[in-house]
Amino acid sequence: MTDCELLTAGLERMHIKFCPQAVDQLLRFSALLLDKNKVMNLTAVTDPCEVVTRHFLDCAALVPYLQAGQRVLDVGTGAGFPGLPLAILCPEASFVLLDAQRKRIDFLREVITALGLTNCTAVHARAEDFAGDNRASFDAATSRAVAMLRVLCELALPMVKVGGAFLAMKAVDCMDEVGSAANAFTVLGAPAAELLRYTVPFDEIPRVIVRLRKTAETPAQYPRRFKRIQADPL
Ligand code: SAM
Repeated sequence: MTDCELLTAGLERMHIKFCPQAVDQLLRFSALLLDKNKVMNLTAVTDPCEVVTRHFLDCAALVPYLQAGQRVLDVGTGAGFPGLPLAILCPEASFVLLDAQRKRIDFLREVITALGLTNCTAVHARAEDFAGDNRASFDAATSRAVAMLRVLCELALPMVKVGGAFLAMKAVDCMDEVGSAANAFTVLGAPAAELLRYTVPFDEIPRVIVRLRKTAETPAQYPRRFKRIQADPL
């Protein structure tokens, strides 16, 4: 199968609606990613078919949990995952892709311009700093491979509105991590974690989305400075 066939067959198997333009945009993003990856460390993946399974279809697992009109923050987006494929697949939601590394954000800005995406912006900032002016301003936050949950929740949940949700992508064996974050969930205003299991077509490794619905405001003292979060996680 070509990367294009893998992508369309995978999205169909996941029952995700998409238009031909989305497939075209994702494949152009893949080409830009693999090209830039020759001179910059963006991804361990080098094969276009693996970009489809390990990045695009994996990120697409979040599509059923987002809605049209939502404002979504991707914390620690790196080379744009999961935020950029989601912006392509959910054109009626808007996305802020946030990362602490300027070069990655510069790359994402090039991609956003090249693909003509109008529902997506890339912001260079640390999450704990960005939270200062952006408290409770997103309907949803997403994250993949950024930090342990108890740390990650302090970075993301302050920026989610009450009634919104934080969707953290994790490996299937994350039960200990979820258990050790129970206090953080409660303190930050999202006490009940739901584990949403999924498998990516053509790769079949089970994975989990940890969904934290925010039911109470996050106390004003969070997030703390990053050194403090790391040294004394909730
Ligand atoms: N989410 C992407 C993925 O799944 O491919 C990137 C994962 S990469 C391992 C982790 C990213 O999180 C890095 O690009 C790093 O700069 C970013 N990051 C870590 N801590 C952060 C923070 N406090 N604020 C913003 N970005 C952060």
